[in-house]
Amino acid sequence: MRQWDGIGLEEFLAAHPKIRITEINDDRVELAGEYQLKAQLAGSQLVDQTYQLRLVCPRDYPKTLPKVFDEGKYFPRTQEYHTYPDGSFCLASEIKIKLLLLDDHSLAAFFEKIIDRFLYAVTHRIEFGFFPYGELAHGEQGLIEDYGEMFGLSGKLSVLRALQALGKRKREANKLPCPCGCGRRLGLCDYRLILNQFRSIERLRWFQLHLTESFKPFEKPQKIKKKSRTI
Ligand SMILES: [Zn+2]
Repeated sequence: MRQWDGIGLEEFLAAHPKIRITEINDDRVELAGEYQLKAQLAGSQLVDQTYQLRLVCPRDYPKTLPKVFDEGKYFPRTQEYHTYPDGSFCLASEIKIKLLLLDDHSLAAFFEKIIDRFLYAVTHRIEFGFFPYGELAHGEQGLIEDYGEMFGLSGKLSVLRALQALGKRKREANKLPCPCGCGRRLGLCDYRLILNQFRSIERLRWFQLHLTESFKPFEKPQKIKKKSRTI
């Protein structure tokens, strides 16, 4: 268990006696049990709910993020409730989560900053009919809003330009049009200083893959079976 000290596993278990380890090996640790949330946002309703959750935390966390599943079938498994058909939660964009966990990625921080906010918002939607923070956007639109907020940009084109720049080395990125919309090259605008801060969060390759893979709809398109060609 010592290898998991870095994420404060024992402290987390001590603070949540109804959660236990269901599997632990070199690749991951899996926790399951009862998680209670009692929270209220100013101007919104009190949420006092107990959930049956399962968390799968990969060994390389925070590089790869944990998945959290609703084992109690409390959340409708639809897009509207940000829950996938397998019961896992659609929490937020990966980079936003990583940004929030930058200075503390203990399990306690992961729950406090990511899970509690999610549980509160979606439970509020289930119990009172609306989201306390306003509608959380989905899929591509959600990503664009998330990134826009983080990068200080608005609109799809700007966000895609920022991701494209982050997928290149600084020298190459500086030749691209600036995402801020100033009409100059990135290298000539102070906006590059803001953008370059994100380089420490992920590698170039991640931004490249993300740009091509993540701007897809929430639901995966159905695969169409190719008919084998007969000669
Ligand atoms: Zn600019």
